[in-house]
Amino acid sequence: MSLGAEALAAGIAARQRSLVEGLKSWVEIPSISTEPARKADVQRSAEFLRDYALKCGMTTAEVWPTEGHPTVFAERLEDPSWPTVLVYGHHDVQPVDPIEEWEAAPFQPLERDGLLLGRGTADDKGHLLMHLETVRGILDTRGRLPINLKLIAEGEEEDGSDHFEATVRSHRERLRSDVAVISDTSMLAEDVPGLTVALRGMAYWEVRVRSSRTDLHSGVYGGAVLNPIAILADMLAGLHDARGRVQVPGFYDAVRELSAGERQELAQVPFDEGGFLSEVGAIAGGEAGYTLMERRTTRPTLEICGIWGGYQGEGAKTVIPARAAAKLSSRLVPDQGAAQITKLVGDHLRQAAPPGVEVEFELIHDGRWVETPTSHPAVDAAALAVASVWGRDPVFIREGGSIPPVATIADELQVPCVLFGVGLPGDHIHAPNERVVLRQLFRGMQALGLLWDAYSELGIDGLGVRPG
Ligand SMILES: [Zn+2]
Repeated sequence: MSLGAEALAAGIAARQRSLVEGLKSWVEIPSISTEPARKADVQRSAEFLRDYALKCGMTTAEVWPTEGHPTVFAERLEDPSWPTVLVYGHHDVQPVDPIEEWEAAPFQPLERDGLLLGRGTADDKGHLLMHLETVRGILDTRGRLPINLKLIAEGEEEDGSDHFEATVRSHRERLRSDVAVISDTSMLAEDVPGLTVALRGMAYWEVRVRSSRTDLHSGVYGGAVLNPIAILADMLAGLHDARGRVQVPGFYDAVRELSAGERQELAQVPFDEGGFLSEVGAIAGGEAGYTLMERRTTRPTLEICGIWGGYQGEGAKTVIPARAAAKLSSRLVPDQGAAQITKLVGDHLRQAAPPGVEVEFELIHDGRWVETPTSHPAVDAAALAVASVWGRDPVFIREGGSIPPVATIADELQVPCVLFGVGLPGDHIHAPNERVVLRQLFRGMQALGLLWDAYSELGIDGLGVRPG
């Protein structure tokens, strides 16, 4: 390590305790975005973060009101010719039920054995303070950052991010950046560092089938008319073949197959197939020809999420219903588009119904997939920074789920997104006894110190390669 690098590492390490103390104070504010009674607390949480950002050396920090809970924005601009990094996190937290399962009060943080317990310690307040205390550590040592830094922390990530898109749109100029670093994800284990490089998108629909004007007596009409539940069951049964392939024509047309190298990368992610299933008592299913890991992260899905129709109460009711309905969802992968898949699935279902049967197909919501290839210089630099702090190369994680605000940032700001989070699977996020492993946050600070230097060296042009 050069003398400069050593001094920087020491300067950042000197901020570990202030990170822990700051996090304790912030966690005491119960910023639960889904509970209307907590509205003032979410506001207080935003103000806490704004003040904290200024204390750490950000030169501007503002609370941006939204129609829901407020977003916090902070920035420190050093030189317009240097790259600008946008950090994303959220300052709201999940509810705490069931409260009786907590070992300590969720909003009275408890430090124990290198852990900090409390709601929001990992998801996501710890991540945000990891960023801010890194800034403070760099400034203590060098007096300036090697990049321009902007930070956006939304206040309703745990409540659907309803106003995030509008917020980003109306502040597009202020948020302009060369790369986004999203810190709201996990690694696989303390000694298995990881970077998330892909998230699936999604589309969610309701399909409604109607085959008569009214419910019918099963004695008078039974045997002589079509039954909407049987029709719907047939339509749904026809969505997949026996090998788990989706039978909707064109469904796979836009899917970008993984390269051999990418499949190999994914195979290196430690994953216990047996445990994955047995933990929840589930039975393996899905598309033949792909590993379980590939099926749940890199392949598109078409799932039936709910189904109803006819009499469901106690006892018997001799009636043939007029209607039946189901909820469906698709997890989308590059380069599938939600609008295109909605059209294909809707057309297919309509065609599968017998003549005269009314079929309604409605999109409930959708979200885009996000992928930043491992070959992108912004990801490559992050992998190097992580490797040098953790002492081994990170694995590249593909998530089966979606993080809607990440899709918003990728879409609206047209920047590559690097998902750098230091959470762990045992952090119990969204559950009782949420905690963060402090060493993960400390290592994260060191990795960020290296990463900002690496981005500085790449410069705007080096980072400017668009993903995908
Ligand atoms: Zn989160």
